[in-house]
Amino acid sequence: MTDTDIFGQQVPVLIRNVRLNGKTQEIYLDGTGKIGAVSEKITEHDAEFIIDGDGATVLPGMINMHTHSPMGLMRGYSDDMQLFEWLSTKIWPTEAHLTEDDIYWGAKLACLEMIRTGTTAFNDMYFKMEQVANAVDEAGIRACLSYCMIDGGNHDKFESEVNVMESTVKNIKNRYNSRITAGVSPHAVYTVSEEGLTWCAEYAREENIPIHVHLSETEQEVKDCVAAHGMRPPAWLDKCGVLSEHCIAAHCCWLDADDITLLAKRGVTAVHNPISNMKLAGNRALPYPELKKAGVNVALGTDGASSNNDLDMFGEMKTAALLQKFFWNDPTVMPAGEALQIASPNGAKALGIKAGVIAPGYLADLILIGRNPLNVPAFNTDSNAVYATGGLAVTTTICNGVILMNDGIIPGAEEIMQKAGSVAENLVRRATAQ
Ligand SMILES: [Zn+2]
Repeated sequence: MTDTDIFGQQVPVLIRNVRLNGKTQEIYLDGTGKIGAVSEKITEHDAEFIIDGDGATVLPGMINMHTHSPMGLMRGYSDDMQLFEWLSTKIWPTEAHLTEDDIYWGAKLACLEMIRTGTTAFNDMYFKMEQVANAVDEAGIRACLSYCMIDGGNHDKFESEVNVMESTVKNIKNRYNSRITAGVSPHAVYTVSEEGLTWCAEYAREENIPIHVHLSETEQEVKDCVAAHGMRPPAWLDKCGVLSEHCIAAHCCWLDADDITLLAKRGVTAVHNPISNMKLAGNRALPYPELKKAGVNVALGTDGASSNNDLDMFGEMKTAALLQKFFWNDPTVMPAGEALQIASPNGAKALGIKAGVIAPGYLADLILIGRNPLNVPAFNTDSNAVYATGGLAVTTTICNGVILMNDGIIPGAEEIMQKAGSVAENLVRRATAQ
């Protein structure tokens, strides 16, 4: 097969001359979406395509555990504002104008950006998720997609949200695409009623799918929850049945010792979103040292591109490691290996997929960082990946054994960038028209 024919094909592939765990290795992808072999020399193989890594670093594909993919359309539209003012004057009025076509092109742009920066799976929460599913299907990456329920305490709204949630889950399940799975997302304790939270918890349990929620992002959220329900957000979610090993909770900044004990007891995954928290001045970092000590599975996410402003998990890893050291005043907190651990295997664990590790039997979701001044010398390739290279250093992205980017080339990238740019301009024009 030639370099151009290989895109989109799931065929046996041999990757030669790559750095893995300090050694030069070869990796065989078996043509069914899995890693078949990893060793210093693979002589027997039926590969139809060979990648010469030329000394590239190989890593598991990044897994972005909290984002709102279509929000890339609002990248750079409004920054540097107070959270509530930003949401109420910029984000929500623009979102009210989003069409299905906008969502589709926003998600196409997000998938392109993720492939370009080495992400092979993401956990997404937004609206009109069938359009996101179409984009993910075409892009070739992996995603867990959840409709975001917001009922605002209104019973009629709750009932209509239930209908949308059920039809979204049904439509996604009916695609029978192993790369695209469904989840359930009640937005947060301050936007969803008790009946909404309870219903989502039961429905996620019945469908045996993840429940993805924002949790304790700001101090105000905690204070309001205590005033309204007499308990902090984790306890309130637990009372509504939301907390379990299927629960993926984003932000988790304002947690106290009892909150951490409860998350650990229920097996919840806490997702660190350091850039979004810093940009919106949340004034507190996710308590990583305590969560780790309590045995909580911590994963990593970028949040939406309008509060980040990108989906580059390499930037997120570096920021997570730096914020944790800075905030807890301890440079030994979150070494590079742990930043990589939260950016991939821990996300795979939460999503219930066999990924995040480069070993036989695991999903063939992996990335290469090619020759690049920021990756020299190679004393510690984990350190280079977290602290030096950045996502644009990724040269090859493979998901489910299919090559999505090779040598920095992604077929159709130019059209997606052009179309998403014009869709975004149009959206803002409609949203700001008097
Ligand atoms: Zn979010």
